[in-house]
Amino acid sequence: MATILNSQDSYNVLEQELKRKLKFFPPLHLASVAIGEEYSTEVYRSSQLKVAERLGVEYRPVSLKRYISFKGFVAEIKKINDNRNVTGIIVNKPFPWPEEEVFSLIDEAKDVEGVHPVNLGKLCISSKTIADVGKDLFIPPTVRSILHVLSLSDLENVYGKRVTIVGFSSLVGRPLALLLANAFATVSITHIATSQKGDLPGYVERADILISAVGKPHLIKGDWIKEGAVIIDVGVGKKDGKICGDVELQAAKKRASFISPVPGGVGKLTPLFLFDNLIKAAQRGQKLKSR
Ligand code: NAP
Repeated sequence: MATILNSQDSYNVLEQELKRKLKFFPPLHLASVAIGEEYSTEVYRSSQLKVAERLGVEYRPVSLKRYISFKGFVAEIKKINDNRNVTGIIVNKPFPWPEEEVFSLIDEAKDVEGVHPVNLGKLCISSKTIADVGKDLFIPPTVRSILHVLSLSDLENVYGKRVTIVGFSSLVGRPLALLLANAFATVSITHIATSQKGDLPGYVERADILISAVGKPHLIKGDWIKEGAVIIDVGVGKKDGKICGDVELQAAKKRASFISPVPGGVGKLTPLFLFDNLIKAAQRGQKLKSR
């Protein structure tokens, strides 16, 4: 029977660490931009706000009109980039333009989600270990949260392990795959085409570590899971009115050795890593000012 992670203990430790680090800075300021009123974005922003309040960080939601033009959007982002009081910026999905056009507008020194092409590019060419790469770069908070949760399982050392990642977004699947491959895991990246071809069960069956970030309730069936596998569920969906993950938890429990569930696993810790990246942005800002 699998151990089911309850990330509250980690949350408490990480929160204390953040509070200690934040004492060395004047109040930091996070701008969180959203376009239109998307329910999932509002849920995400309200959890960011709660953590910001607990940490004493100034949180500024910037809500733009659904039909704002791209030119208007560029001007709004420029204003936030140029505002010296703003330490970090997030542009929440969804938005009606290609990701690369939107994410490249963010000042890369304030890019606390690590999505600017320069930050993703640096991550792509880095050959450092996971721990060292995190010191220099903005790693997307969800990825940091996944790596932290992985370190709580007994498969902390991924060397030579077969990892299947389901989902290939620039916020989760892509950077995660690069970092794990750098740590010498054998990584398979699966996505919509893998599912459509009927190959997903095979990739799940061979995984020592399965990480799923799709957002389709119970996409991964419990009986696909390898005996003793570590499962990190990241996807957030709703079934019968309840929040649930991509993996069929009850069935998976019987086969896996460790499960980070939804809710209660990675998602709880992600905002803390976001604010840790904000501290990194503040440190960079201080270095730039002192030059
Ligand atoms: P995203 O950009 O929509 O990416 C989802 C990925 O899943 C895409 O690569 C998509 O492929 C793939 N996909 C879609 N249907 C699939 C299927 N049937 N089989 C295999 N792959 C499929 O979303 P995201 O921002 O990465 O977020 C993914 C999920 O994680 C969402 O539920 C989100 O709410 C959750 N999330 C959780 C946290 C947390 O901290 N817990 C943080 C961020 C996101 P295509 O693009 O080709 O369709």
